[in-house]
Amino acid sequence: MARLEAGADETVATLYINDDFSRCGACGRDADPKETTHLNEQMAQPPGCGARYVTVSTDLDMTPRLRAAIMEMKPNLPFADDPIH
Ligand SMILES: [Zn+2]
Repeated sequence: MARLEAGADETVATLYINDDFSRCGACGRDADPKETTHLNEQMAQPPGCGARYVTVSTDLDMTPRLRAAIMEMKPNLPFADDPIH
């Protein structure tokens, strides 16, 4: 996984936001889109990998509606691969 603006030992990741689940781009496991890093505060298994989300994307077809929903959910994160120009 590429490291984007990473600190000395910090792993960063793309957060993939989908309709029914979201996932961490670093480890591929389920992620909570409300979090800013892949931690697991609900004590579910497996735990998150600790990567900090620096960009967002989706596994779905990027529609303007989905894009708006993602931007509303994570207003501070840019899109990893901007599919709409
Ligand atoms: Zn992860």
